[in-house]
Amino acid sequence: MSRTFVMVKPDGVRRGLVGRIVARLEAKGLALTALKLVAVSPAMAAQHYEEHRDKPFYPELVQFITAGPAVAMVWEGREAVAVVRGLMGVTDPAKAAPGTIRGDWALSITENLVHGADGEASADREMRIYFSDAELSAGTPRRPRD
Ligand code: UDP
Ligand code: MG
Repeated sequence: MSRTFVMVKPDGVRRGLVGRIVARLEAKGLALTALKLVAVSPAMAAQHYEEHRDKPFYPELVQFITAGPAVAMVWEGREAVAVVRGLMGVTDPAKAAPGTIRGDWALSITENLVHGADGEASADREMRIYFSDAELSAGTPRRPRD
């Protein structure tokens, strides 16, 4: 069983897509173990996206992710990291497959609705930016469908 960190980015909250995004992950059989609405601060954004610090899109990305409330979540299930990445679709929504979250509902490469950790280590690192130890252990253990 693995856990992953997922975020509905500010565009998803603004557009009223939180429920539908959560519903897709639930329907897949993943278990929601932590969730909060969060105003991402510039410091949190810098930690979250430290790997992209030197990329040309970094300033725009930080501006976007701090521009309004986002929903931070932890999901658990078999191969959760890879499963969520698959449900999200690739980074550029123009290339994301139909049936994926980005493929169905987004078009902007920056405002692409969701973040999902790209590995076990980054999932662990990222969930600790947004959740305390107590919050991370509070999720009632539930058995995802398999
Ligand atoms: N991004 C962007 N322009 C780019 C590439 C990425 O604005 O050319 C943004 C986009 O919001 C993306 C985030 O930066 O989701 C992180 O990029 P990454 O390559 O990690 O994509 P992801 O893991 O989110 O698919
Ligand atoms: Mg990434």
